[in-house]
Amino acid sequence: MSNDLPPRPNSAGRTRLLSVIGVVGVGAVVGALLLWHAQVGEVLGLGADKEPVVSTVGAPAIGAPPTTTKLVTPTPSRRTTRSTPTAPPKTATTPSKKPTKKPTPVSREESIDGLSPKLKSRLTKAIAAAKADGVKISITSGRRSAAKQQRLLNDAIKRYGSYKLATRWVLPPKYSAHVQGKAVDIGPAAAMTWLNKNGWRYGVCRRYDNEPWHFEALTTPGKKCPPREPHAVAKAD
Ligand SMILES: [Zn+2]
Repeated sequence: MSNDLPPRPNSAGRTRLLSVIGVVGVGAVVGALLLWHAQVGEVLGLGADKEPVVSTVGAPAIGAPPTTTKLVTPTPSRRTTRSTPTAPPKTATTPSKKPTKKPTPVSREESIDGLSPKLKSRLTKAIAAAKADGVKISITSGRRSAAKQQRLLNDAIKRYGSYKLATRWVLPPKYSAHVQGKAVDIGPAAAMTWLNKNGWRYGVCRRYDNEPWHFEALTTPGKKCPPREPHAVAKAD
């Protein structure tokens, strides 16, 4: 019976002591764990990018708190750049890029841009294949405006003396494949020779005997080109 009484205060004191030790101990352990965890986090986080920096900084950081502060700084800045304000600046930069596309229409006739999708894709393949063979194909005239075509026709009429003769070289706008983006004139001579020989593989063919520079998408890729015509003929109005 008497043995029951003394142990109580003792046990209570022990419990208090233990709880105090426990709180301090747990606090220390938790603190250590947090510190360790933070450092491990840093090491893991930094490890992805800069290995040499981590290995040198990571080791002393466990014992030395100041190093931890040094380590902590780079990571939040990185996290902030990753998560938060990244999206708004991107949208801000996108509209400013639009003016860069302005130069495209300037030299349109000398590029493949205005050509029909069919001729454009076929010619792109042919140009790449020619390049692989050491031949550079340059576009001297692709899609033309109706006004440009009419000017060319007027000049040709003066040069050849008649509308009929002129149209062997330059068709009126409404008949011209160039105005429709379905014809391309190329150069130099080596390119004409290459495309005349290999164009059929890509469905691109020389059309007229009198114009070695003029090509159109006249056949299915891989099939023989149709017979050449002596020259262009303007249809009767
Ligand atoms: Zn042409």
